Amino acid sequence: MRREDPMPGVAQIALARPEKRNAQNPEMLYQLDAAFVAAANDAEVRVILLTADGPDFSAGHDLSAEFAVPGSPVATMGGHVSSGVVENHYGFECEAYYGLSRRWRDLPKPTIAVAHGRAIAGALMLLWPMDIIIASADATFSDPVAAFGVNGVEYFTHVWEVGHRKAKEMLFAGQPLTAGEAHRLGMVNHVLPTADEALSYALAMAEGIARRSPFGIRLAKESVNRSLDAQGQSVAMESALALHNLGHAATVARTGGIVDLEGVAMVRAESKGAGNR
Ligand code: ZN
Repeated sequence: MRREDPMPGVAQIALARPEKRNAQNPEMLYQLDAAFVAAANDAEVRVILLTADGPDFSAGHDLSAEFAVPGSPVATMGGHVSSGVVENHYGFECEAYYGLSRRWRDLPKPTIAVAHGRAIAGALMLLWPMDIIIASADATFSDPVAAFGVNGVEYFTHVWEVGHRKAKEMLFAGQPLTAGEAHRLGMVNHVLPTADEALSYALAMAEGIARRSPFGIRLAKESVNRSLDAQGQSVAMESALALHNLGHAATVARTGGIVDLEGVAMVRAESKGAGNR
């Protein structure tokens, strides 16, 4: 994780694990959380930018990492660690996947993500909680994890991001949405030709937002998020998270592992077959 302040009032937090295509292990997620909290608590910061180093925004969750919250167990319902693979994994996901993404959605300052390259599965759990998404034309967005035996990523807002019919196609077929499609569907605010231009565009937008009343912006953000909740988004996400963990439990019962490794191999082979990077 890297933090820069490219202009007064703007903090830029960059995913900095490019050698792993920014695959997310729990340590990285909690470093990102600490960076968000520090920016939120920094009186100088009015807008938070999320960017990524390397050719891809993020390859998703690092499946080789240990599924454990780093440091002390978190004393919440989600963070409580039980014995047993299924019980432990449910607690882990409630806290480290769903819990973090929910907290990032409700950060008290405006957030802008800049996406380029591939954003796969868990990558959406970093992008979708942000307020505004700017993409470069090469960006793609996919959630192929139904092949792993679960419904989709643990922060299940697909229906709000792309509409219910495209959400089903995205989840069933597992194929990437292009930046242009994501823009047309309303998931992405603006598409620029290159990653550099996308960053410049985001910085110019951040500069304009930073000039406005921080409390007015905060109230606007809270009002939009409350509108989503009034539509049932939180309840729908929590219901989907329970079904997601039913998927993990069924896979544990059938294969002994949290995810279906045949599905993982198939998705990896398809992504190589696509020939992009
Ligand atoms: Zn999961």
